[in-house]
Amino acid sequence: MSYEDNIKKVTPYVPGEQPAGDVIKLNTNESPFPPSMHVAMAIASIDYDSLRLYPDPDATVLVQAIADYYKVDEEQVFVGVGSDDVLAMAFQTFFNSDKPILFPDTTYSFYKVWAALYDIPYEEIPLKDDFTIDTLDYQKENGGVIFANPNAPTGVELPLNEVEEIIKANPDSVVIVDEAYIDFGNASALSLVDKYENLLVVRTFSKSRALAGMRVGYAIGSAKLIKALKDVKFSTNSYTLNLAAIRAGVAALGDDEYFDTIVSQIKDTREDTRRKLEQMGFECLKSSTNFLFVKHGDVPAKDIFEKLREKDIYVRYFDLPRIDEYLRITIGNNEQMNSLMLALEEIVGN
Ligand code: PMP
Repeated sequence: MSYEDNIKKVTPYVPGEQPAGDVIKLNTNESPFPPSMHVAMAIASIDYDSLRLYPDPDATVLVQAIADYYKVDEEQVFVGVGSDDVLAMAFQTFFNSDKPILFPDTTYSFYKVWAALYDIPYEEIPLKDDFTIDTLDYQKENGGVIFANPNAPTGVELPLNEVEEIIKANPDSVVIVDEAYIDFGNASALSLVDKYENLLVVRTFSKSRALAGMRVGYAIGSAKLIKALKDVKFSTNSYTLNLAAIRAGVAALGDDEYFDTIVSQIKDTREDTRRKLEQMGFECLKSSTNFLFVKHGDVPAKDIFEKLREKDIYVRYFDLPRIDEYLRITIGNNEQMNSLMLALEEIVGN
């Protein structure tokens, strides 16, 4: 027996590379645009002396702003340090059964990491060949359900009526819908939170509100679920969001005009990029996100990934079963996408 026997052994999640220097970074689904100017002003106006003090443990102004924005009660809102923090808390809070939790075999790879970390049994349910969810697969005994909608890294969105089928079929489990990318898609499950007490919708400011560096995430659900999440949070760390993150979140929510502009710009660029990639011999899954999941007819994804990297263009390649022929390309600004297209034309020879 050694102390090493008592050390937790886990295989951590590996985020996309964060290369230093002047590169074209299309590998972690960040926004190519800066956050709203309201955010810059909110941060600049922080009173230096106030940094002596702990931030509000309830992040009240941010919770209020989110509740107002989505027309829910404050008791229905939970905030965290990015949606990763919210999701990690949700795994701890809601997935405590001996039965396995269910999630798709191709999805956000952090789900498996949290399940292992918290000793939660899980079953990965294969997506259909076209990378869509078969809702019937989620109509069996389980200890909870989680899926990303739109899904990552595929970008595919499950229609809301099918999301509801899954929630409806699981009244005895908490169903978590991870909507990190929904602002680039169609129908949010937020419209269902008042109908289903067991539904938790998790969202982030990292993508559509261009605040990945500030780490602001939230969940909306029934007051009962939110109370349970808060109890776990306050058993872990009272002061999760820092003062700047709280202020930045409020400011970002207050600038809808800018939000609409950058989201529609990203969606337009996504569709334009998709058309160009298809002309170059790529097959692209239909995306409801700020990225495209693509595969070329002739040139292996890994080769394209490596050749782009040599040109300082970073996209994401997953050496995983089912998706090792695909690349995930974050939608950048026009200049970045033009450089990407020129590089790809050289690599795939069109
Ligand atoms: N869910 C999904 C599906 C994601 O792709 C990401 C981004 N890596 C997250 C959650 C977490 O994002 P954040 O912690 O920045 O809110």
